[in-house]
Amino acid sequence: MKRILLSLTTCFCLATLFSQSHSHVAEPITYPNIEGYVTLKTDLHQHTVFSDGNVWPTIRVMEALHENMDAISLTEHIEYQPHKDDIPHPDRNRSYHLALEEAKEHDLLIIHGSEITRSAPVGHNNAIFISNANSLLVDNAEDSFAEAKKQGAFVFWNHPAWYAQSSTGNPILSDFQKERIKNGELHGIEVINTGDYSEESLKIALENNLTIMGTSDIHGLIDWDYIDKGNHRPVTLVFAKEKSIESLREALFAGRTVAIYNSLLVGKPDFLKPLIQASVQIKKATYINKTEVIELELENISSSDLLFENEMPFTFYNSSPVFEIPAGKSYTLLVKTLKKIDALPLKLKALGAYTAPKQHPVIEWQIPVN
Ligand SMILES: [Zn+2]
Ligand SMILES: [Zn+2]
Repeated sequence: MKRILLSLTTCFCLATLFSQSHSHVAEPITYPNIEGYVTLKTDLHQHTVFSDGNVWPTIRVMEALHENMDAISLTEHIEYQPHKDDIPHPDRNRSYHLALEEAKEHDLLIIHGSEITRSAPVGHNNAIFISNANSLLVDNAEDSFAEAKKQGAFVFWNHPAWYAQSSTGNPILSDFQKERIKNGELHGIEVINTGDYSEESLKIALENNLTIMGTSDIHGLIDWDYIDKGNHRPVTLVFAKEKSIESLREALFAGRTVAIYNSLLVGKPDFLKPLIQASVQIKKATYINKTEVIELELENISSSDLLFENEMPFTFYNSSPVFEIPAGKSYTLLVKTLKKIDALPLKLKALGAYTAPKQHPVIEWQIPVN
């Protein structure tokens, strides 16, 4: 018996592996627009051989086009140059220019950026929308931040919870960051970096009014690190007035973002709630003949699996109060309203989404029923 079980388990594992590697061939990342804004899919923290990454900048452009991104930034460490013997790199803007050239025939925004790199407490910080990376290469971290501000940069604190720089795996907001925030030299913070989500970084974001960011910080290949494993890269959705570099910059300074990694969505309620609301489309809302039970078909048009819990007084006939609508798929609920109503006030708590540490948003839809 044990033997049979064992071989069955082996079969199951192989089948699972197979189906994963099959079904995850770089599907484009998609999220709906919200009222008044276009939703830009961005990854503003990436590396190439021009710092400690392993690929030429053109590959980053191709990866971004493959996944349907709207904007990327190649944020090379200006100080840390492990490939310097092979790639002397006298001009720290070179990576940006190569990407710009590659992207010129495409609808992909290339944001000029760089990573200001120090040990703690300064840590790592990305300055984007810069005009000249070479001028950021100065001894003093304070001077580097002042120069970034002079260039009109949006600056965000990278992986503040990184255990190599903070052994507890929790961010430490030091006098250095407090001073930068006060001077208007630090504007955002990564709450998601690679696969790591830090609730403590989210708390710092909310308390200091820093823009919530999520990035891949990719050094190898997006395919190998994310897509082959059945994931999408982490992204920052930015709600911009239009798709342009200037609008993206304005929206980042205004804090209009949601950070996402697969089914995890983190953002302020003003943007996270309309995003989830627009991500779920009502395909059908009809009473089953001669009953007070509504057949409600919901379609998730986003790239995130959405996990919900029922918050209505009405209960379900066919489903657990907790249910998932997979990305790009539909889910049918049978809702017991006890008597016929003209409109269903659907109310669900989004369990994979956070507006603050341990706090989920509740989303509402008014659905006409026939
Ligand atoms: Zn870093
Ligand atoms: Zn980095």
